[in-house]
Amino acid sequence: MLRIKGGRVYDPKNGWNGEIRDICIKDGKIVEDLPAAEEVIDATGLVVMAGGVDIHAHIAGPKVNTGRVICPEDHRRDPVPRTARTRSGSGFTTPSTFVTGYRYAQMGYTSVFEAAMPPLEARHVHEELADTPILDKGALVLVGNNHFVLSFIREGDRERLKDYLLWVVEASGAYGLKVVNPGGGANWRRHSNVRGLDDAVIDYGVTPRQIIETLLDVNEELGLPHALHLHCNNLGQPGNLPTTLATMDLAAGRRLHITHLQFHAYGEGKKGYPLLSGAEDLAAVVNANPNITIDVGQVVFGPATTMTADAPLQYELFQKGGGDRWVNKDVELETGSGIVPITYSPKSFVGACQWLIGLELFLLIENPEQVFLTTDHPNAGPFTAYPQIIRLLMDRDYREERIAQLPKKAVEATGIKNLQRKYTLGEIAAMTRSGPARVLGLEKKGHLGVGADADVVVYRPQADYEAMFANPLYVFKEGQLVVQEGQIVAAPRGKTFVPEIRGGKDVTSWLAPQFEQFYSIALENYPVDREWFSPWEVVPCK
Ligand SMILES: [Zn+2]
Repeated sequence: MLRIKGGRVYDPKNGWNGEIRDICIKDGKIVEDLPAAEEVIDATGLVVMAGGVDIHAHIAGPKVNTGRVICPEDHRRDPVPRTARTRSGSGFTTPSTFVTGYRYAQMGYTSVFEAAMPPLEARHVHEELADTPILDKGALVLVGNNHFVLSFIREGDRERLKDYLLWVVEASGAYGLKVVNPGGGANWRRHSNVRGLDDAVIDYGVTPRQIIETLLDVNEELGLPHALHLHCNNLGQPGNLPTTLATMDLAAGRRLHITHLQFHAYGEGKKGYPLLSGAEDLAAVVNANPNITIDVGQVVFGPATTMTADAPLQYELFQKGGGDRWVNKDVELETGSGIVPITYSPKSFVGACQWLIGLELFLLIENPEQVFLTTDHPNAGPFTAYPQIIRLLMDRDYREERIAQLPKKAVEATGIKNLQRKYTLGEIAAMTRSGPARVLGLEKKGHLGVGADADVVVYRPQADYEAMFANPLYVFKEGQLVVQEGQIVAAPRGKTFVPEIRGGKDVTSWLAPQFEQFYSIALENYPVDREWFSPWEVVPCK
């Protein structure tokens, strides 16, 4: 039992915006009050928030591991020695499982969602998640280019589609549904892609529009706790703005989370400008539609390892970007992936534009519970840059200093000069805690009200917000002190979130023969036994 006494508490869900309160912890949960004799931490003058929640990062599974394998130089950038309390590890853009857990916890994050799990390789994802200390986690399963999903959409067999999706979620131990470049991955099997919502998906006679529309509906009908999680078509293409706007229109009131919006925010270029920022148009739509949330995918200058189920994109990126290595892979008509290491340079027009457009999105989207901090780790940069991004949002002088170092043309291609906004601590708490927890349907995360998991972070206020958010004084995970003065002091096992599965008919009668005929493994070997998980917690349906 512990009382964190007299800190300035920032908790948007409970309406506390820096008010002085005690936070009481018992048995890993927040409680109303405690007897006076219990242990006390004096937080007078300190800032108190719930543990951070990362809605979208790539931290576990085969593609992350392939990134580690093909980038040996990355291991040397952040070697972590073994201590009495921690395991050794390494990796800057693709840290090992242990280092991933430690580095997140050291920034005050306690929950992270792996954004792209291929069903057939779910076992690998869960083994690595179980190996990632401290954090609670969940995984989103890739379904937007899956053979069965596309076949049932073509046939209009909504019931079988729902049965299959529930089965995939349960069999893979997923938390929610992820769609990546819908139709594009399927066309990549024919060395093609899609370029708009109405392009044909070659072997299936459906369109990206139909895939998104159907899955938006089905996600609501199944009542999954998380919104449909979508990586739009045309990622990274100059002029992709109309596709993204049209995709947002499809939501029509249904819950939609668009990930790494920055990569989908490029207007057509003109007169010497390869692209122009589309941030204003996109932010206007988000501001008018509370059902739509986004994470930014903020670019961080320096090395990155791009990894995505958008396999055709990765082929193009490798062709355009040069580089000396890449990997591309198909996962048995379920999904694919590509991995390409790159570097974002502040000297390049495109790199600078991407960086600026990300900041524009943060600054233009009014409600911080609709715009979340991500770097699409490790695609736009490593998650360890979050404190630096927070400083860019909170400290206008610092932001303007950094902008002044960029190519003038890139600055002119965006509207950044007009943006004066400075994020407040309450807004940072909304963007990194209460907002993502709400969209994920996690009632016990992202806030410090009675009954919440006692994930509590105590920061020393500093003028340098990067230093402040990089070095919390204390981090508690479900009541246990895990970080003190920047050092890991305990590394407990986190849990894995899975959704309540409601309804769904048995699929084995029709699915088993398909497996027999086409899959490389038998149906009985496909589902991940719960013993592969770290302890798990079932999150109720909507
Ligand atoms: Zn991603």
